[in-house]
Amino acid sequence: MALRISLILARGRQHLHQSGPEIGDTARSPVESLESPIQAVLTVHFLPMTAPRIIQNPAELDALAGGCFVPTMGALHEGHLSLIRAAARSGSQVITSIFVNPTQFAPNEDFDAYPRPVDRDIKLAGEAGSDAVYLPSESSLYPEGREASIDLAASLPIPEVAKRPQLEDAGRPHFFGGVCLVVARLLEQVRPSAAVFGEKDWQQLQVIRAMVASDARFQGIEVIPGPIVRERDGLAMSSRNASIPSTHRERARGLADALDAAESAKTPADAESAMRTTLEAHQLAMEYAVIRDSETLMPVADLSRPTRAIIAASLDFDGGSVRLLDNRAIPIAR
Ligand code: AMP
Repeated sequence: MALRISLILARGRQHLHQSGPEIGDTARSPVESLESPIQAVLTVHFLPMTAPRIIQNPAELDALAGGCFVPTMGALHEGHLSLIRAAARSGSQVITSIFVNPTQFAPNEDFDAYPRPVDRDIKLAGEAGSDAVYLPSESSLYPEGREASIDLAASLPIPEVAKRPQLEDAGRPHFFGGVCLVVARLLEQVRPSAAVFGEKDWQQLQVIRAMVASDARFQGIEVIPGPIVRERDGLAMSSRNASIPSTHRERARGLADALDAAESAKTPADAESAMRTTLEAHQLAMEYAVIRDSETLMPVADLSRPTRAIIAASLDFDGGSVRLLDNRAIPIAR
């Protein structure tokens, strides 16, 4: 019984953490921190211990239609878990999907090397409040086969915000076709009432909003944004951060520092220049560092509309490179 209570307490603690502990912390028993038996009873009531249901056959999703959906590619970190917790707060059943989507990777990108710690992910998703974890097979999402689905993604009509801003769409022209295709197919299978997407991928969030709003199949699905979860030093959490060698880790905070620098600028041009200078100072190779209209992602024309600083930069080191993204609302010149 004591073990059961300690495990439940550990989960409750993790559930409450804003930036959360590492995976190892969930196994650390806090029995010694119990102040009274009442504390244990309250925690049991707060978060019942149930493993998430694992779904591989899309037909089994019928029972969960109308729930709140969190699509991911796995290798879950606190950023993903914050979205699952937000979904759980909606009061609906929470379905998290884990699928490394081949149609959004270019041939030179890291599809095969993308981490796939599935057992760990299932455990973490359940602890964060996911009722079900959907692990679709590639053939259920892409019955036409990999090559044909990649061709289809490349020819799919996608929203303007996926192809005009010349941000992610410029460097990764295949990307939003693949994202739109997989999200559309997942939404068709899961049929949620709401879906949660992270602000970390700001352009992607705008693309999904536009796709859902313009497609009759998805009317009524609420797109819920989840704030960016950061490491202690400000680096936005990402599955790819693990590839940054510790000797170069300090440089990675250059993106958050660049956003700080943009905050105090008086015009979009000054903000962009300040971001560039900061990225250079951290030896980060800038892809873009811009101030844009938050929704259309086009250059700022109407200063009364919300504006956003958006950055992509690579941290290059001997033997490798990690591409980093970040963004922040910056109400410039208003
Ligand atoms: P991914 O597994 O990279 O496809 O991401 C799945 C979802 O998690 C997307 O909606 C991302 O925007 C979101 N996400 C990734 N990193 C973070 C983060 N640091 N904070 C908040 N959301 C995130």
